[in-house]
Amino acid sequence: MSQWEAGRRAAGCVDRERLLRIAERLIAAPSPTGTAAPALDALGSLLEEEGFDVERPEGGHPRAPAVVARLDGTGPGRVLQFDGHLDTVHLPFVPPRVDGGELRGSGAADMKGGMAAAVEAMLAVRDAGGLASGSILLVAHDLHEAPWGYGEQLEALIAQGIRGNAVLIPEPLCAHLPVAGRGQACWEVTIERDGPPVHEVMRPEGQPDVIAAGAKLVERLMRLDAELAQQTDPEAGRSSVFVGLIHAGEIYNQFPQACRLEGTRRWVPGIGPAEVENEFRGIIDNLARATGTRIRLRYQRVRDAFRLDLGDPIVDDFQSAMEQVNGSRLRPGPKPFVDDGNCFAAWGIAAITHGPRAGGQHTLEEWASIDDLERVARVYAATAVRYGARSRDPRR
Ligand SMILES: [Zn+2]
Repeated sequence: MSQWEAGRRAAGCVDRERLLRIAERLIAAPSPTGTAAPALDALGSLLEEEGFDVERPEGGHPRAPAVVARLDGTGPGRVLQFDGHLDTVHLPFVPPRVDGGELRGSGAADMKGGMAAAVEAMLAVRDAGGLASGSILLVAHDLHEAPWGYGEQLEALIAQGIRGNAVLIPEPLCAHLPVAGRGQACWEVTIERDGPPVHEVMRPEGQPDVIAAGAKLVERLMRLDAELAQQTDPEAGRSSVFVGLIHAGEIYNQFPQACRLEGTRRWVPGIGPAEVENEFRGIIDNLARATGTRIRLRYQRVRDAFRLDLGDPIVDDFQSAMEQVNGSRLRPGPKPFVDDGNCFAAWGIAAITHGPRAGGQHTLEEWASIDDLERVARVYAATAVRYGARSRDPRR
């Protein structure tokens, strides 16, 4: 059977109704980051009902063990991983609902809808007769969404050998092939002075002004951001520093004790995350010295920068599947957010983020196109068949 025919057969076994039922089951289980066990348990049960052996490795997070299942081909070969997180951001729970052609509810876009498509793809490959060689490795986990998680469970799973030779990630990004993305850190700065809060006219001479120090920091960071505008990558964009929150004071004529600022720092591929962190710490130390304040810094690296190796075989297999299912290959473009692909990139594993047309991530109005979820399942199924077959033919 030709690659084309095998891909067509697997994609043809995608069942829209089954996909929707899987998605609704995942969305119906509330799973804010850190407590994603209900959604992971739901996935584990439905895979067992489908006859799969399910493993639940903790990955350092016993409160919500991950879900791991495999579809093995007849012969050994390359392993294609379908990876995703089942945790959602900490917002009020929205139950699943079908609204016209859209699936709605917590995680519909980010990324229970996409994970349901990946699961459906694995079922479709099985229903089409399975893989001649190679395997599909399905991995779902918690601790994705910052600032409640930083990918530490996935990191632990990868470190203990639960990883494929290449990865597909059904996060909601479908219009281009993401080939590069920036690394990201979150920072939180608290500037403090000695002494109690006092009336403005009662303040002792020479006390440092925390609001003025905060303003200096904003100014310094804006200057840094202007410099970082020169640090660019043709696909990923530019490095940046961003201030998203500033808070100080209780009432208008009280001399405050603390000023808090929060924001992000992003950097293009090729820039070392340690060097970025050291530079930021240096700015904070200098500010504390110059203003006579005490400054507490919380600096948390979220993910490193990402670049896809376009020579990796998964790229051609994925693009061929896109051509077959969508009618055309995707053009390269940026990955605007950080995701699990950045973790895999750090391990030298090629990871392609491709998911449904969807929106409302990190809001109460998440949606995903049901037609597009079905399309993603077809693309994943056709890719898996091609990638598995690669193991048998050394010329490919
Ligand atoms: Zn996500």
